[in-house]
Amino acid sequence: MTQSPHSAPDMADAPLSEFSLIDRFFSGRDRGPGVVLGVGDDCTLLSPRRGQELAVSVDTMVCGTHFFPDQPAAAVGHKALAAALSDLAAMGAEPLGTLLAITLPAADEAWLTAFAEGMGRLAERLRAPLIGGDTTRGPLSVSVTVIGQVPAGHALRRSGAEPGNLVVVSGSLGGAFAGLQAEQERREAGGGPPALQDPALRRFFLPEPRIALGRTLRGRTRTAIDLSDGLMADLGHICEASRCGADLQAEAIPRDPLLAGWPDGTALAAALSGGDDYELLFAWPARQRSELRPLASALQLPLTVIGEFTTEPGIRVLDTTGRPVTLADPGFDHFRTD
Ligand code: ADP
Ligand code: MG
Repeated sequence: MTQSPHSAPDMADAPLSEFSLIDRFFSGRDRGPGVVLGVGDDCTLLSPRRGQELAVSVDTMVCGTHFFPDQPAAAVGHKALAAALSDLAAMGAEPLGTLLAITLPAADEAWLTAFAEGMGRLAERLRAPLIGGDTTRGPLSVSVTVIGQVPAGHALRRSGAEPGNLVVVSGSLGGAFAGLQAEQERREAGGGPPALQDPALRRFFLPEPRIALGRTLRGRTRTAIDLSDGLMADLGHICEASRCGADLQAEAIPRDPLLAGWPDGTALAAALSGGDDYELLFAWPARQRSELRPLASALQLPLTVIGEFTTEPGIRVLDTTGRPVTLADPGFDHFRTD
């Protein structure tokens, strides 16, 4: 899609009018429990279950900043929704619906079809109906608002971790960073748009929001966050909000298989600081450690204890002898996408 810097403020002069575009690509996926009225009126109407609080979050992705201009549209749609739903997962909320504010330079039908499919497939799988939005003309950007529900008082906040609690992460870390690097190298070598089936690219292009895990954690812990900016940064947010610190065991950090073959220090740095993995990190009472394994097998998702929260502020990464690890500089700024 080409972008015009002097775009009209709405889609009125596009070959496909705003309304037929909404009709064709963004309606018909708006049904779900809790949705009283979906796309087509001035507002959507939602009816949360009794005793639930609403959890609401918005995420914006700008072409050229958060995704490649020639990135397959299905992956843009998937990732925009995945990043937003990941915030619901981190609060232990279940999706009620999503709103899509999209700004398009032109009504490119092939692009819109793939975009709507990529977003729609994930929305259907995670039961997050598309209940409304806004469509305007301008430089390509996609903003997704998610609305979820969580039993009153049970949302997983960043505050609430206590010294002695275990630090637990889901899945594996550093895979999205490895995927982005593979993609950069492929592009530098003159490759065209990426093949999404490539497992090396999937972790970066098609992240999976951990909704089921978030829901399961509710009532078992009070504290979780999703890893969008990297383990160190996001654990730092929990430590700050909970007024504590953390000791991490370098050996315990589950490195994504895509990091196999990387120099040890660089792989560790990628797992610690690479962004975009969208796994969850949570605090867990040490005396309930044995409950993690059955939980992981029920969810079919690894849950790994990587350290513990401490009274001493700051995050320390320790080797097997308990000494602080010196971290390699992986040159992340080069690859940052946010
Ligand atoms: P209004 O002018 O009253 O804000 P719009 O003309 O912008 O309404 O939108 C008409 C309907 O289509 C509304 O229900 C709105 O939520 C929905 N809608 C608009 N754009 C999108 C979109 N990209 N995805 C989903 N629903 C959309
Ligand atoms: Mg509008």
